[in-house]
Amino acid sequence: MAQKRDYYEALGVGRSSTPEELKKAYRKLALECHPDRNPGNKEKEERFKELSEAYEVLSDPKKKQAYDQFGHAGVNPQAGGFRGGADFEGFGSSFQDIFGDIFGDIFGGAQGGGRRRSGRRTYARPGSDLKVDLDLSFEEAAFGAEKVITIPRSVPCTDCDATGCASGSSPQTCPECHGHGEVQYQQGFFAISRPCPRCDGRGQIIQTPCLACRGTGKTQKKSQIAVKVPGGIDTGQRLKLNGEGEAGENGGPAGDLYVVLHVLKHDFFDREEQDVLCEIPITFTQAALGTELEVPTLEGKVTMKIPAGTQTHKTFRIRGKGLPRLGSYGRGDQLVKVVVETPAKLSAEQRELFKKLSDLEGEKSQPNHYGFFEKVKNIFG
Ligand SMILES: [Zn+2]
Ligand SMILES: [Zn+2]
Repeated sequence: MAQKRDYYEALGVGRSSTPEELKKAYRKLALECHPDRNPGNKEKEERFKELSEAYEVLSDPKKKQAYDQFGHAGVNPQAGGFRGGADFEGFGSSFQDIFGDIFGDIFGGAQGGGRRRSGRRTYARPGSDLKVDLDLSFEEAAFGAEKVITIPRSVPCTDCDATGCASGSSPQTCPECHGHGEVQYQQGFFAISRPCPRCDGRGQIIQTPCLACRGTGKTQKKSQIAVKVPGGIDTGQRLKLNGEGEAGENGGPAGDLYVVLHVLKHDFFDREEQDVLCEIPITFTQAALGTELEVPTLEGKVTMKIPAGTQTHKTFRIRGKGLPRLGSYGRGDQLVKVVVETPAKLSAEQRELFKKLSDLEGEKSQPNHYGFFEKVKNIFG
């Protein structure tokens, strides 16, 4: 699979560029590659798609943040699938906006009668976004988990099918705006529209409100939501679940749910990005003579060779036993730090042996020690 190009690179801008700079870069490149200017040119068409996709993501603060944090995996539902999926179907409203903005003027009549939407306009409002914290064990963060969270949120009323009307009744068309949801008045040359005050932009009036939701079309409910956490996640990272926030109004889309992750401490393992860290005490003789250790990893024990003459705090690397790299391939490593334990509470026999050992110590077996005191003598006399 070809590696997808970095969005910033595609637009030829730096990571810290402002929205204006992004827009300018997109405008310039998209004009060059626009299919209307390059009919039948597949290469330009691909480039145009690439530019549009990059701009679609980077011009949306939420998507930009996800991309900055997770890379393509953060905005591409095919890789990892933890964004809930439905966020990247074709090009959304920001694309439409800038398209109208840029190409509307330049390509003149190509867009038809301008940007005016015909027909009824109701004032649909999207629901609010929600945020929830989720604790994960060290292992869950490493390998991913399916969790179920319970949150109170507003959902479309089931009693009235979100219409807000009591059963048996139906909403009446607003007599003020005749169902358009907006009223127009003339000011000089301009026809100005605003939401209809009578129906609050709904275009309809509810005469007999639904008892369950008091005509709002929404009710509060404790909802259980399944959350799929990808392996390799770390504290502070968040998942976005599209459309799992509060219900919208007047047919508006639901908000999104952000799940902020917290990885709990482990008794034995620690973590630095995708590497797993641990410390293992070894004895004095093991360090001197060398040994084989059984080291716990996230997936059971492995045998690790400790060479003779190992110093305390030496770190050994076990490749590929760390955490998966999010939105990429491969895994981190496990770093094992050995800590030499100096013998304490010696038996008479041990003491005897250590004394003997001490008599045999010399520059050859303890070069650092002897070298150090040699240096001290040279400096201080
Ligand atoms: Zn009205
Ligand atoms: Zn209802």
